[in-house]
Amino acid sequence: MPQDLPSFVDRIRKECPEDFVMVTDEVDPAYEITATVVKTEQEARKRPVFLFENVRGSDFPVMTNLHASRPRLAMAMGCGPREMQKKFLHAMENPIPPREVNTGPCKDVVITGDAVDMGKIPQIVHHGGDGGPYITAAISFARDPKTGVYNCAYNRLQITGKAETSIHLTLGKHLWEFHRMAEEKGEPLQVAFAIGVHPAIALGSLAIGSIDEDETHIMGGVFGEAMEMVRCETLDLLVPAHAEMIIEGEIQPSGRVKEGPFGEFTGYSLGAREREILKVTAITHRKGCVFYDMSVGHLDHMLLSTIPMEANLFRAVRSMIPSVTAVRVPSPFTCFVSIEQRLKGQGKNAILSVFGADLYMKRVVVVDQDVDVFDDRQVNWAMATRSQPDRDILIIPGARGSDLDPSTSGDDGFTAKWGVDATAKPLLKDFTPRHHFPEDVWNGIDVKKLLS
Ligand code: MN
Repeated sequence: MPQDLPSFVDRIRKECPEDFVMVTDEVDPAYEITATVVKTEQEARKRPVFLFENVRGSDFPVMTNLHASRPRLAMAMGCGPREMQKKFLHAMENPIPPREVNTGPCKDVVITGDAVDMGKIPQIVHHGGDGGPYITAAISFARDPKTGVYNCAYNRLQITGKAETSIHLTLGKHLWEFHRMAEEKGEPLQVAFAIGVHPAIALGSLAIGSIDEDETHIMGGVFGEAMEMVRCETLDLLVPAHAEMIIEGEIQPSGRVKEGPFGEFTGYSLGAREREILKVTAITHRKGCVFYDMSVGHLDHMLLSTIPMEANLFRAVRSMIPSVTAVRVPSPFTCFVSIEQRLKGQGKNAILSVFGADLYMKRVVVVDQDVDVFDDRQVNWAMATRSQPDRDILIIPGARGSDLDPSTSGDDGFTAKWGVDATAKPLLKDFTPRHHFPEDVWNGIDVKKLLS
C-alpha cells in the first residue's frame, strides 16, 4: 500500500471527486483557512478536503480537512465505516514493527543550521483569541530514554522564533514523562515531527495505550505492513520516510515560554501557560511538499481522534461486558455505549468501565443493542423512554478530568462525572414492545416499485 499522503489524496480525487476542493485564489493564513472549513460545513453541510494552492507569505500550499469524513478514514484503513473500531483494535493487538530504509521523499530537501527558518512555513492562525501562529498537525516521534520504545502523539507547536517553537506536552502523558526523565538529567529530549502523512500514521499516533506500546508498530498494524522509516539528519531517531515534511528538534531541559491561548477540541480558546521550548535543528521535506494543517476542534480533528479513542473504550467495556455492541464518542468528554444486557445492572457497569479507561470522559450514556449509538435521535429517544432520572442517573463528584473543560472551576480538571443508564428495565425482553409489523407485511412492500 502506498504510505504517502499525495497518493491517498489522488485516490480520493479519482474515486470521489466531489470530496476535493482546490482553492487557487490567495488566502490569508490568519483565520481564513479554518474559517473556510467551518463555514462550508455550517452552510453547505459539506466536508471536502481543501487544498489552498496560494497561501500569503509562504511557498507551501496548505491542505486541511482530510479526516473530516468517516468514509474517507475507512477508505484509508481498507474497511467500511462501521468496521473501523474493530480494524483499529486488530492493529493494536497485532502490531507490525517498522522497516528502516536508506532514504525517502521526506529527504528531497534538507535544511539544517542557520538555514532553518520557521517563518518560511505557513503562519496559520486558527481562531480569534489564539496566541499566534500554530502548527497543529505535527506528529511527534520520540524515544523513551530508558527503554528506547517510541512514543508518537499530536503536540501543538506555537511558532515563537526563527528556529524555535513552544510545545504543549499534555500533563501525565507519555512525551511529558520522557521529558521529565531527560530534564532530571539536565539533558534535552530529541524529538522529530512528521507533518503531512497517510491517515494510517495519523490514526496510529492517536492510539491510547500503555507507555510500553510502540505507536510506530501500531501504524504498521493499521497499514497491514511495516511502515518505512528513515534516519533523521541531526537526531538519533527514525521518522516516516513518506512524510511530506519533518521537523527535527530538541525540547530544552530548562526554560519556558508563554504559549496560548489556543482554540482546542473543547470549542473554546483558552489555556495560556508557560510551556517547554523546542529548538529546531533541521527541516526536511518532499519536493513539492504540501503543508498539512489540522482544523483543530472541528471534524478534521474530532473524527480522527475518536476512532482510536472508541477502540480503546470498546476494549475496556468488553473486558467487563462481553456482549457490548458499539461505542461512540460523539462530542468532547462524552461516550455512548450500546450493550446486549443479559443481567440486571450491566448498564451501570458499562458506565464504570468507561470512566475507568479514559481520564477525559465525563458523561456516559448506555443503551440497549436495538438503539444505534451513531444516531443521536435514537439515543435521545432511549434516554427519554427507558430511563428514570432518580433511578438511572449516576453522579460521581470530585474526580479528575480534562484541564481544558471550562465548566470546571478553581482547580483545573477537578470535575464531577455523570452516567445515564438508558437501557430498558429490568431487561429489554421484558420491556414494552417497540413499533413493529408482521414480517410478511413488511417483506411484501416493494418500496422501489412504489416510488418508480
Ligand atoms: Mn504512547
